[in-house]
Amino acid sequence: MQRIEDYTPFVGQPTVDDLRRLAERLRGKVVQHVNSTAVGGGVAEILNRMVPLLNDIGVDARWDLIKGGEQFFDVTKKFHNALQGREEEVTERDLEIFLDTSERNIREVDVHGDVMFIHDPQPIALVRRKNQNKWIWRCHIDVSNPVRKVWRFLREYMVKYDAAVFSAPGFSHKLPVRQFLIAPSIDPLSDKNRDLPPEIIDDVLTKYDIPKDKPIITQVSRFDRFKDPVGVIKAYTLVKRYIPCRLILAGGTADDDPEGLKVLEEVREHAGQDPDIHVLLLPQNDIEVNALQRASDVIVQKSLSEGFGLTVAEALWKGKAVVASNVGGIPLQITHKYSGLLCHSIEGAAFFIKQLLNSPDYALKLGQNGREHIKQNFLLTRHLRDYLLVFLSLFHRGDIVYL
Ligand code: UDP
Repeated sequence: MQRIEDYTPFVGQPTVDDLRRLAERLRGKVVQHVNSTAVGGGVAEILNRMVPLLNDIGVDARWDLIKGGEQFFDVTKKFHNALQGREEEVTERDLEIFLDTSERNIREVDVHGDVMFIHDPQPIALVRRKNQNKWIWRCHIDVSNPVRKVWRFLREYMVKYDAAVFSAPGFSHKLPVRQFLIAPSIDPLSDKNRDLPPEIIDDVLTKYDIPKDKPIITQVSRFDRFKDPVGVIKAYTLVKRYIPCRLILAGGTADDDPEGLKVLEEVREHAGQDPDIHVLLLPQNDIEVNALQRASDVIVQKSLSEGFGLTVAEALWKGKAVVASNVGGIPLQITHKYSGLLCHSIEGAAFFIKQLLNSPDYALKLGQNGREHIKQNFLLTRHLRDYLLVFLSLFHRGDIVYL
C-alpha cells in the first residue's frame, strides 16, 4: 500500500506537508476518474499509482471504466490516430458506432463524483451527464496537429467541460474552457521504477534468452505505428554496421488498442532472422520492464507523435542515456546534449546511438542529468499537487486559496 510519507526521501517533508494541506481543502469531495482500460499504456500506468495515493492523503478518489466492444475501440483508435495527425477515413457509420456505445455508457456508468475526471476521447461523451459537479477532460495524446474533422466532432464535447488538461504547451487549442498544462509523471516507488537487485535483472535477461555479450539498445512501447518500432530496427541496422549490439523491442498490448497484434507482426517481419533482435510481447509485468530498461546501455523512444512518453521518464530516472524523437512531450524531458539526445530521423537516431555506445562517460553524464531533471519535475508528487490545485480552482473560481 502506497503511503505519502514514503515519498519524503525523494521530495522532502515540505512537499509532503503541502500535499496534505491541499487535500484537506478537498475533504468530503469525491474525485471520479473514468477511462477505457485498466491495463496497458500510460493512462492506466498513472491511474494505478495516482488513485491510491490520492486516497492516502485523504481525497476520496475512485476509478471507473467505460465499456466498449471491438467496433467501438476500432473507431476510437481511428480518433486517436487522427488526433495525432494521421489521415484516417472516419465514416458516418464510425460516428454512429461511437455515439451508440457512448449512449450506453452515458446510461450505465455510475456517475457520482463531485469532480469527474475523464481521460482521453473514448469516454468524452459522458459529459452529457453533467449537472452541478465539475468536469475535467484530460487529454493525454499529442494533439498539436489533429485532423480537423475529428477534432471538430470531439470539440462539441470538449466545450461542455469546466476545464481541459493537456500535457505540453504545443497541444493547447482555442477552446472556450479553462485549460491547464500538466505533464504526467512516474512513481519512483512503483515496481516499474524502484531499484532492482542485479540478480533480478539477470534473471529477466535469462528468461528472455538475452545474452549480455554486446551492448543492449531497447525501446519499450505498445506495438503502435506512432512508436515507430520499424524505424528503430532500421536505426539499429545502421548502428550494427559499426558496433556489435543487440536490440530489444519490448511491448504489450492495451485493451483499448486493436492494432497491436498487426503492428507486432510487421515488426517481426522486419526483424527477420537476426538473432540479436529480441522482439518481446510482454505480459503486463512491471518488474520485467524495469529490469529490461536497467539492463540496457541505450534507451530509444523513436516516436512519430507522443503525448508525453512515460518510457522516456522511466529510462532517465534509471540514469539511462536516451535517444528520443523531438516530438510531443519528449522535449520537456530531454534537453538536447544535456539530459539525453533528440533526433529527427532514423539516421539521426543511429548517429546518436553510435555516439553513446562509443562514449560511455558521455552516456553516463546524460543519464545523471536526466535523472535529476525527472526528480525535479516529473515525479508523482508534483503531478498530484498540480491536480489538487486544478480541483480546488474549480470550486474557488477567482478566490485566492491560502495554504
Ligand atoms: N508499458 C509496459 N509494458 C509494455 C509497454 C509499455 O508496462 O509492454 C508501459 C511503459 O513502461 C509506460 C507506459 O506503458 O509506463 C506507456 O506510456 P507512454 O506514455 O510511454 O506511452 P502510451 O502507451 O501511453 O502511448
